[in-house]
Amino acid sequence: MAVDCLFCRIVAREIPADVVYETDQVLAFRDIAPKAPVHVLVIPKEHHPTFAALGQEDPALAGALAAACGQVALDEGVADAGYRVLFNSGPNAGQEVFHVHAHVLGGKPLGPMLAR
Ligand code: AMP
Repeated sequence: MAVDCLFCRIVAREIPADVVYETDQVLAFRDIAPKAPVHVLVIPKEHHPTFAALGQEDPALAGALAAACGQVALDEGVADAGYRVLFNSGPNAGQEVFHVHAHVLGGKPLGPMLAR
């Protein structure tokens, strides 16, 4: 567990979250400020700061994270209609929490990938 990491504290159940899916390796919970009808964050329980770091440090865990995103999309009922999986990485992408997390977004047409 990383010191002062919000998502490590959610994994440790020190901070409450609306958990929708969990395995021994990953945790998925609803975003506190949803940007779409379905907005779930999927994280590895182990602390890795970014998507790139996770891929380098534990590729198998990155695969487990990908599988969990697909399962969440199925469970949330957005798999057939389509959804978006987004990783913000670093300041220019607006990453606020440096514990890697996938945003799984869906439940309506999501429009263009980036604001114009
Ligand atoms: P990012 O900008 O990619 O780092 O995304 C961080 C996300 O974490 C944002 O969408 C926030 O709304 C979300 N968030 C922050 N605190 C919490 C929390 N306690 N529970 C659930 N989601 C949170």
